[in-house]
Amino acid sequence: MPRLVGIDLGGTSIRAAVATGPTTYADRVVRCLTPAADGPAAVISACAAAARDAAGGTPDGIAIGIPGPLDPVRGVVFAAPHLPGFESLPAREMLSEAAGCPVAIHNDSNLAGYAEWAAGMGRGSRTFVFVIIGTGIGGAVIIDGTLLVGAAGTAAEVGHVPSSSDGPVCGQGHPGCLEGVASGTGIARCAAAALGRGERSRLQGVAPLTASVIAEAARGGDPLAQRVYADAARALGRSFGALINILGPDAIALGGGVGSQADLLEAPIRAAMAEIAFETPLRNCRLGQAKLGSDAGLVGAVAWAVRSFGHQASREAAEAV
Ligand SMILES: [Zn+2]
Repeated sequence: MPRLVGIDLGGTSIRAAVATGPTTYADRVVRCLTPAADGPAAVISACAAAARDAAGGTPDGIAIGIPGPLDPVRGVVFAAPHLPGFESLPAREMLSEAAGCPVAIHNDSNLAGYAEWAAGMGRGSRTFVFVIIGTGIGGAVIIDGTLLVGAAGTAAEVGHVPSSSDGPVCGQGHPGCLEGVASGTGIARCAAAALGRGERSRLQGVAPLTASVIAEAARGGDPLAQRVYADAARALGRSFGALINILGPDAIALGGGVGSQADLLEAPIRAAMAEIAFETPLRNCRLGQAKLGSDAGLVGAVAWAVRSFGHQASREAAEAV
């Protein structure tokens, strides 16, 4: 087995592991803090060190998930909100030089979605949509085993579609964006706005007001909290309905901290999907919970390393014999 390493790079921590199969990795996971404040060169160097540590030497190939829009074909990161200096950064070349092996880079949500397709909720699916709802909303679209990346590498931003013409802005400043009402941040902001208008709720005076606190209040029967979740679910469902009409997926997986509130979201999402989606593609699409949780990022990076470099590394090993 060639030494292929997956790296999950986050704003606060780095995880690296060596592949033991197409979607599996060794028990030993190398973890370290991301030296984000020290700039891109320090972050790349920490990733290279983690990869060498995980591989027990120079790896035969690395795939890394990076939290920001990037072009996997050119190997360039356009921006990464939690990694200062990651702007127009040739991350693939830098990591390849630092680690001494070929490197593939990809958006972290895309790799998490690839993991869910290869080893989670989307197994066996031909057209798969992954939606991860946490602080923001990210996603991935996998068609016949291929990640949809688009002309610039930035496709599958399923959280940034219009939800209304005058709704709250999302984290990127788009007015009326799905993320503005259905992300954790959006849900908390919508609840805060209603509380600010003086609506009666058990959430009055609660701090910090988070999506999970609001979810608990909704389960306890608080009308404001229930409405905020219902609005989020309807917006999600309508956008999924549109995706069903455009892509005809056979599965849509919900992941992330907010996405895992299945009892509050799934039934109203299904109802709202039916408002928009045509009947036949809707009937052929299953909606469910992502299975890999916070492991998806690392599973996806490992799986992508095997997919990108597995054949090449095996061939070189055979030729060397
Ligand atoms: Zn947006």
